[in-house]
Amino acid sequence: MTARILDGTRIRDQIFAELKKEIARLAAEGIRPGLAAVLVGENPASQLYVKSKIAACEQLGASQLYVKSKIAACEQLGLASWMHTPPASITTEQMLRLVRDLNNDNAVDGILIQLPLPKHVDTKRVLEAVEPAKDVDGFHPVSLGHLVSGRPGLVACTPAGCMEILRRNGIAIEGANAVVLGRSDIVGKPMALLFMHANATVTICHSKTRDLPDVVRRADIVVAAMGKPGYVQADWIRPGAAVIDVGTNKVTDAKEAEALLRNFPARLEKFREKGVVLVGDVHPDAVNTAGALTPVPGGVGPMTITMLMSNTVKAARLRRGKAKTDTVQSTAGAR
Ligand code: NAP
Repeated sequence: MTARILDGTRIRDQIFAELKKEIARLAAEGIRPGLAAVLVGENPASQLYVKSKIAACEQLGASQLYVKSKIAACEQLGLASWMHTPPASITTEQMLRLVRDLNNDNAVDGILIQLPLPKHVDTKRVLEAVEPAKDVDGFHPVSLGHLVSGRPGLVACTPAGCMEILRRNGIAIEGANAVVLGRSDIVGKPMALLFMHANATVTICHSKTRDLPDVVRRADIVVAAMGKPGYVQADWIRPGAAVIDVGTNKVTDAKEAEALLRNFPARLEKFREKGVVLVGDVHPDAVNTAGALTPVPGGVGPMTITMLMSNTVKAARLRRGKAKTDTVQSTAGAR
């Protein structure tokens, strides 16, 4: 069996098309959704990540060029975005002041604090200072509380994106055995809650789980979010199961790359050229046992940024829009 590939970029394009309509609706009410990203210090990896989020904002704005003139489209129909780049020496108090200013700025609908913050900054205090209505990352305890109690709200982007991938590919969740590998606050826990609200039977696994292969073998749906390259072996996957691979691991060791990609000569060749390859937490050979599988890259990755955009538009609608009900992201909300 060769798995159906669950292409995240295709779903990103679908959702972007829906968001553009929503942005146009909001623009008609004089609202331009805006995302403020805060990137402290000079961490090149996170700078790249934040830049791609900002680029995604601009992409939505730029797409309106087809309809209106450049300036009018950018100012009226695109998402607004701001990037704050305080130095690594910023104190907790200064960060809190910045967050307070963004909370008080009505043009800002979403606040993104790029982690990790420098060690001397109290990350919890900073994240909890974000106004819950602007918590587009879904990390605030109020957002998590809404998720636990099944109330609509802003849901962490990666698990919300995984749900979109499953739903938009017609993969049945209700009654399914869903196994979540990993219990982090940003992926595993919210993922398990979303599955529970969607009426799956959920098993959450972690580093102390016994007989992991056996647990995985019982799954109709597996979500792997461990940060361990190729850890989930192909023969752990029940034939036909759906596999959502959240892991994004850079492999640079030649022996490791060869073991992971022995059946994928083209990818192995690329690795040899570049000296690096991105692999998920699921062994690439699982493509021969799973019924459906997200690729790495190109599966969950594009969906995380997509859901951030979606959350920003949703936050704008809920805070400032006339139609407060959840329309665009109805399937990726708390339920
Ligand atoms: P994390 O905070 O490091 O959590 C990893 C989880 O995996 C922990 O709960 C850990 O268990 C569990 N785990 C580790 N080894 C295990 C094992 N051998 N068996 C079973 N469980 C094990 O990681 P995260 O932030 O959730 O991220 C997980 C992965 O997803 C990373 O590769 C990350 O880069 C990727 N990610 C990708 C996106 C995206 O947009 N594609 C977004 C977010 C994260 P314990 O709790 O017992 O330690």
